[in-house]
Amino acid sequence: MDTTVSSHTPSSKSLVRMLRSGIFKALDILGLPSVLLSTKHGKGTVVLYHGVTSEKGTGIFNYRGKHVHTAAFAKQVAWMHKHYTILPLQELLTHPDLGALPRPPLAITFDDGYRNNYTDAFPILRETHTPATFFITTGFIDGTPLPVDTIEYAADTVEEVVRLGTHLKTLNAQEMRGFLQQVVTDTGRNLQEILNDSPYAPMTWSEMQEMERAGMTFAPHTVTHPILAHLDAQEQKKEIIDSYNTVKEHLDPLAIFAYPNGSKKDYTDDTVSILKEAGFAASLTTQPGVMARHSNMFELPRYTLDGTNDLYRFRLTVVGAR
Ligand SMILES: [Zn+2]
Repeated sequence: MDTTVSSHTPSSKSLVRMLRSGIFKALDILGLPSVLLSTKHGKGTVVLYHGVTSEKGTGIFNYRGKHVHTAAFAKQVAWMHKHYTILPLQELLTHPDLGALPRPPLAITFDDGYRNNYTDAFPILRETHTPATFFITTGFIDGTPLPVDTIEYAADTVEEVVRLGTHLKTLNAQEMRGFLQQVVTDTGRNLQEILNDSPYAPMTWSEMQEMERAGMTFAPHTVTHPILAHLDAQEQKKEIIDSYNTVKEHLDPLAIFAYPNGSKKDYTDDTVSILKEAGFAASLTTQPGVMARHSNMFELPRYTLDGTNDLYRFRLTVVGAR
């Protein structure tokens, strides 16, 4: 038996990766996306990006695939234009007859407010006349790294990030502040000082104003990106209203909200009451699905496109086949 074979055998991890993309490719060739597209005509699809980057992932950076590659994003936008009518989010939510559109309607959203939304995504969106809505974590814009990114600055390995991140999600607001402070202190570095030179830098208000003039829209996404369900009603209200007011100081925001994290357990009935009282018309989750006429306006579904550099995987995610 040739013993050199083993050195050419893919690791189990890369084998899983190959198999997965092989399955996506097979489903795609079978025509699954086009079948799903035709049955969902008239219902609204909302997709969610976090970032677009041309930087090669090194070390921990982007290990979760939170930032889609710039070249992949350009292909994805072209594909969405071919198969959907891309509408501004506010039009998708208020359109009187989505079924009358030539192609199924879709809106593009970005959460959090990363600088690469401006440097990498915006040029492609502007070039292709593609509207998008950006949900802004206002404390991040003003210089405080997002909790998940703070952990990535501080950790040396993916395992450590996962461990710290799992712990983070169990904490209430006060505990989280203390925990993040400790994590930062332990590094011996000033993370706020290096934020603007890092891949996790935020956009500036003047960059967002330029995007707004080009037809992009903005909306609030809290101040510090907490899990709202871990906060009492008063703290939730402060996170929501303060971020809305801050965006209003610089831009003309939509009265639409996006829940941080966005799964069913990340917000409460209180959250919805606060939003309604403050005059919000709708809010978006990260629960996958398409909007129908009977959809709860404060629990709208979205397809998250993190980790979709592979175009097959992207298509199957957008049409809801995953
Ligand atoms: Zn977010």
